[in-house]
Amino acid sequence: MPLLADVAVPVPLSQAFTYEVPAALAGEVRPGARVLCEFHRRKLLGVVLAVSERSAAIDPSKIKPLAALVDARPALPAELLSFLQELAAYYFAPIGEVLRLALPAIEREQVRALKAQAELDGVLDLGRAKQVGGRKVAYASATDVIEEPGTLRGQAAAVLALLRANGEQPVARIEERFGNARNALKKLAERNLVALDEREPPRDPFFRRAEERDVPPELNAAQAEAAARIDAALAALSLPAPPGGGEHRASGQQEPRRVAQEPRPSAFLLFGVTGSGKTEVYLRAIKSCLERGRGALVMVPEIALTPQLVARFRARFGDELAVLHSGLSDADRHAMWASLHGGKVRVAIGARSALFAPVPDLGLILVDEEHDGSFKQEEGVRYHARDMALLRAHRAGAVCVLGSATPSIESVALVRRGKLVELRLPDRAHREASLPEVSLVDLRRFGAGPSGDPLISLPLHRALEKTLAAKEQAILFLNRRGFAPSVVCGSCGTLTTCEACSVALTYHRGRRRDARPPSPAGAPAPMAPPDERPEGGRLRCHYCDYAGPLPDRCGACGARNLLLEGLGTERLEATIAGSFPEARVARLDRDVAGKDRSQAILARMREGKIDILVGTQMVTKGHDLPNVTLVGVVNADAALGLPDFRASERGFQLLVQVAGRAGRRDRPGRVLIQTRNPEHPAIAFAAAHDVPGFLEREIRDREEVGYPPATRLALLRIDAVDEGAARGAAAKLAAHARTCPEGLARRVEVLGPSAAPIARLRARYRFRVLLRARDRGPLRGALAALAGLIRDGLDRNVRVIIDVDPVAML
Ligand code: ADP
Ligand code: ZN
Repeated sequence: MPLLADVAVPVPLSQAFTYEVPAALAGEVRPGARVLCEFHRRKLLGVVLAVSERSAAIDPSKIKPLAALVDARPALPAELLSFLQELAAYYFAPIGEVLRLALPAIEREQVRALKAQAELDGVLDLGRAKQVGGRKVAYASATDVIEEPGTLRGQAAAVLALLRANGEQPVARIEERFGNARNALKKLAERNLVALDEREPPRDPFFRRAEERDVPPELNAAQAEAAARIDAALAALSLPAPPGGGEHRASGQQEPRRVAQEPRPSAFLLFGVTGSGKTEVYLRAIKSCLERGRGALVMVPEIALTPQLVARFRARFGDELAVLHSGLSDADRHAMWASLHGGKVRVAIGARSALFAPVPDLGLILVDEEHDGSFKQEEGVRYHARDMALLRAHRAGAVCVLGSATPSIESVALVRRGKLVELRLPDRAHREASLPEVSLVDLRRFGAGPSGDPLISLPLHRALEKTLAAKEQAILFLNRRGFAPSVVCGSCGTLTTCEACSVALTYHRGRRRDARPPSPAGAPAPMAPPDERPEGGRLRCHYCDYAGPLPDRCGACGARNLLLEGLGTERLEATIAGSFPEARVARLDRDVAGKDRSQAILARMREGKIDILVGTQMVTKGHDLPNVTLVGVVNADAALGLPDFRASERGFQLLVQVAGRAGRRDRPGRVLIQTRNPEHPAIAFAAAHDVPGFLEREIRDREEVGYPPATRLALLRIDAVDEGAARGAAAKLAAHARTCPEGLARRVEVLGPSAAPIARLRARYRFRVLLRARDRGPLRGALAALAGLIRDGLDRNVRVIIDVDPVAML
């Protein structure tokens, strides 16, 4: 029987293709290795999924031999390869596209070698595979060998001491301190006290400055308990891996076992209030993982915003840390990848995409700020890095820790179902620090303060003055409004919502202006420019496609005072600068923040060179700024007005997180929340620091309206240049979903089709169909039925994306 390989090629198809392994390569072609294979007369870079001796299911004469082997050592370790296949199956994503998320760049030397191979007469198509290659840098590290006491002197002794204290260093960096370092290193290497090797250097900004090693603080009781529980779970890992973990599968077609549905004492939710010292628990967990000979992966929402966090990791673990982020050059990324893949570095930290890092002997995955929406990839393969972290850890037989001060409802539901073990840190870590005092400013009662701008009420104005007088710092947080405004009552603050879906209705102007987002808005207040008064136009629900006229008065209080919700940071910055001319004011949002700019602004804030920082969500992200004593939330209602069943949850998380920036050290913090909805649960519970109370209530609400985690969702996103084609395809998909066996049994509810909230984007008309089910099984069944229709039953010009467990509902 021939030796056959299943190979995934980078085309948007979900199946693998069969090739014959030539005798010369038998024994060398292994799963996870890249190969060149002929595909429609081109030579493509594919990935071997499985190799076996068997008779072919198709005509043997049609099976081509593999053209060449690219990786002697598989680029994707078995653990990662099988995880990627499960991910592809879970999201109904083409396996070739999924593999690309994890594949490293290809080295130029390899490309040259491949081109040189005579049999390569066909076109070599490396597709989007990145190529890297070039300069190598020498590194030195201390070995385990111990010298005879007293046999080392001078620089050799000093260099060895440095390496032992700080871990591996580039030779060039050692030379900066010791003029004779090369000689000393040569001597040390001859005696096996030091190992020298060459590799591509990390030129990453995170590594520009050497970080002094820190001294770990003594853990408080809650931290110690959490660390001990995690340590115990890590200790249990040394036992044999659970069956199924680490083995690879023949193809990407199988149904993965349910995500996070099996009992797993090794997955935790670290629920600690802001500033409770979660990071310190992470550091201990990593240490204990490394001591057990296994690698660790740390995922954070936005690494560019968290240089401080990376610095803390480096202060503890030195440069033996791969920092993966979008700012890396291809060469740097590849160097990081190679050091993990080769086992030189055992800890990786990065944003969402770090999920695919080839961490050796994975023993631990940490997801910091697990509630953060940025863990969901919203283009290409639409995976959720937090959900997949649980899956990867489970499959690898690793421990997973999700951490947050405001856990996601999904994670809380997993705790309740016994799938996650909750660990709590109830108090701030610094003894003197306590949670800030929160007061609500009811905008229905307070108008504009002295600045004349309704965004700055009198209480907020006074609080800012006090903060400036005390030479302390303030953060003003302004939520970015949605893509389309919601409608709120200026008198009672009630938000106009859909009766069927209980999400905010969005306001759409007349047809003419429908296609573009509304102009930058003013305040939802008397000062609002005339065009911010909603007139004409219609209100829409983007879940059930309800559309109706704009009412002329508030449904709750009857006042004829309906306003559009939404306002801008830029205007707020100008107002603040005008009202407090002596203050140094800066702004942090997507518009001003390039990669380095945001770090620079935060650094200036930390150095006390800014008095008032105005910003969007970016100011809420976990910064530890000791001198911030005032946090002002300019308009808490804006977050709640998004047409999304998670609007309340997100609004709550934002409020708690931004409040958590105040009073992190000895000076007490104060938070002012301006709102027209002081009774809204997201606001009331945030003001009371009552996270469990909010979670409890929100879980009940979700159960009532039938949204996750009470149910499972999948969103079909349909778009086309031609409106009729898109609409037609959406209708066809919805009808098919309703009549397929799963749909008929009414176990899958089909909502829509409806126009997407952004009805037209980049010249394409967008529609959606939402599928909802109590259980995942029927939902998957319906999706599988639809996948067939999508593949070959629709207008070719229509694009359909299946978004499993959607997050952005836009
Ligand atoms: P979180 O990640 O929960 O927001 P951090 O880990 O940033 O909190 O901790 C907040 C502050 O408390 C940091 O400055 C940290 O160095 C400090 N800290 C953490 N644990 C301890 C401890 N056990 N003793 C003293 N200080 C601590
Ligand atoms: Zn609705």
